[in-house]
Amino acid sequence: MRRVVLAPKAIREYEGLIGEEAVGAIEELAAPLRGARVLHLNATAYGGGVAELLPSLVSLKRGLGLEVEWRVLSGASSFFELTKRLHNGLQGMDVELELAHRALYLSTLERNMEVFGRDWDFVVVHDPQPAGLVGLLDGRRTGHWIWRCHVDTSSPAAAAVEFLAPDIGSMDAAVYSMPEYAIPGLDPGRTEFVLPSIDPLTPKNQPLSRSLARQILAARFGLDPDRPIVTQVSRFDPWKDPLGVIDAYREVKRRVKDVQLALVGNLAEDDPQGGEYHAKTVQYAGSDPDIYIFSTLDLLSCDELTHALEINAFQSGSDVVVQKSTREGFGLVVAEAMWKRAAVVAGRVGGIVEQIEDGVNGYLVSNVEECAERVGELLEKPALRQQMGALARERVRERFITPRHLADYLTLLRSF
Ligand code: UDP
Repeated sequence: MRRVVLAPKAIREYEGLIGEEAVGAIEELAAPLRGARVLHLNATAYGGGVAELLPSLVSLKRGLGLEVEWRVLSGASSFFELTKRLHNGLQGMDVELELAHRALYLSTLERNMEVFGRDWDFVVVHDPQPAGLVGLLDGRRTGHWIWRCHVDTSSPAAAAVEFLAPDIGSMDAAVYSMPEYAIPGLDPGRTEFVLPSIDPLTPKNQPLSRSLARQILAARFGLDPDRPIVTQVSRFDPWKDPLGVIDAYREVKRRVKDVQLALVGNLAEDDPQGGEYHAKTVQYAGSDPDIYIFSTLDLLSCDELTHALEINAFQSGSDVVVQKSTREGFGLVVAEAMWKRAAVVAGRVGGIVEQIEDGVNGYLVSNVEECAERVGELLEKPALRQQMGALARERVRERFITPRHLADYLTLLRSF
């Protein structure tokens, strides 16, 4: 198990965004939790939404006096292939899971137990990968165990639910992003709902002017800054539907001849499907010179800070940001783009419908045709893009930034 070391961060840094009173309220909420030992467990420190959320939350909790540690599971690629299968099953794909899978799951987790040499007051298990640890501890279990599910589990495959039921069923609480995701039959002590957030103070979400962003897209990635740019930022994953985005772009191209498409995605450590799906996307794009596919296999930087600034440039400099997911627990990328006042066209699925109010601060779409129609419309109407982008930023400021999320967590911990 790897430890991710993070410096404490002061909630006072957010005063300019949320006001002094809200900062004071969070400090008050945290006061009785000072010294509480909290362990966060997940499967990757790099790539994907959980790795994005945890640094801010862990640093802020540490800044408020909680004793927080973040550990990342170690495992062979066969383990991550299995857990991706579990993830896909939870999102509704028909998957097969056999006894041998359970044996591989538990034997890997058995080699990740060193962190339990001490007592914890709270153990927060993110997604399915570390969930089995709870059963392995038996009589040595301490503290309250919380399963934090980040995926869209509105119609999970029975095999995935059966696989996880003994572990999650024995925890003290399950926390989903939306009520629709609560899995019947898992039956932990309690079920709670908390929406995720983005951190406006990270380099990824810092203000970057459209013109500077477009200069970066031109200089570093070769896009033409004088022509329209449509972007999707996502892992290469079937649920993010990059092939559907290419289909939509091809429709748009008939209407807006000079449009360019950028598909931008890193390869997460715990997502072994990424390389294969990246190759499939490249093949599907064919030889169209106006489709740009960037990943950490090529031009997209692997250096964390540079990478964050590159993503920022794509989200700040594009004319339209697409997120054509067919399943999406929340979709941090949607909130990130909205925060940057982008005009966003996104799948009418999962947590995205909590973020975008259709036709007000972005568009929700259900298929390729609707996606193409809305992207085309927005490319033709700069004033509409601007108006929706301004409202999108306000939507995120009100509901989806870190301090609200932190307060929800503290309230949850205090409720035990
Ligand atoms: N991300 C990134 N580089 C990429 C693709 C994604 O840094 O090439 C980040 C993105 O900015 C967001 C997170 O990874 O913060 C993805 O979270 P989201 O909830 O959108 O999707 P997930 O990958 O968790 O399904």
